[in-house]
Amino acid sequence: LPNQETVDYPSFKLLIIGDGATGKTTFVKRHLTGDFEKKYEPTIGVKVDPLDFFTNCGKIRFYCWDTAGQWKFGCLRDGYYIHGQCAIIMFDVTAKITYKNVPTWHETLCRVCVNIPIVLCGNKVDVENREVRPRRVNFHRKKHLQYYEISAKSNHNFEKPFLYLARKLAGDPKLHFVESPALAPPEVAIDLVTQRQYEAEIAAAAAKPLPDDD
Ligand code: GDP
Ligand code: MG
Repeated sequence: LPNQETVDYPSFKLLIIGDGATGKTTFVKRHLTGDFEKKYEPTIGVKVDPLDFFTNCGKIRFYCWDTAGQWKFGCLRDGYYIHGQCAIIMFDVTAKITYKNVPTWHETLCRVCVNIPIVLCGNKVDVENREVRPRRVNFHRKKHLQYYEISAKSNHNFEKPFLYLARKLAGDPKLHFVESPALAPPEVAIDLVTQRQYEAEIAAAAAKPLPDDD
């Protein structure tokens, strides 16, 4: 794995997958150190961004494997997935089709990476006209994934997926970040009242039995 041997603290290969234009690259680039240090992995054709986080147990590094975008949906080579230790599946809450495609991404991922921690991220929650309502998101419940709503452009919930994965990988549910990474300044403002409504809707949906229609 590129550069993975070069640091003396725990590091993990993080796969960032999902349809094109869902915001994967934008998300990874928020973390300024990672963007600065990024390496190109020519054999696979991906950009690998090393993102460091500071925890109460020391540093942790995620090597973020972000596709360069030249592949069609579902056609990433096995070399991309192999040795993946954790993953983020991204969809765009303003484009229904990107949520519909999540099960295929999940299946392809799990064919190569068995039993790794996975976070489902619904991105672009800053946009007013969502196509995917919070209560309609239930794939994560069927597959025991963690779900977060994020807005890469506003940094909303940026650290949440990394914290969840760090806890799982360290086997320590109490692990926490002691310092925030340097992030690019927000490009859009987020309406916190709206976000709280979304969170309430997610909590209410989680308390109901799973619908079996989708
Ligand atoms: P990728 O193909 O998944 O890597 O997607 P990109 O990161 O290239 O983003 C695709 C488009 O979505 C770009 O025009 C981004 O500026 C936009 N975008 C990404 N994240 C957000 C977000 O959180 N909010 C909004 N409004 N737009 C975003
Ligand atoms: Mg991209």
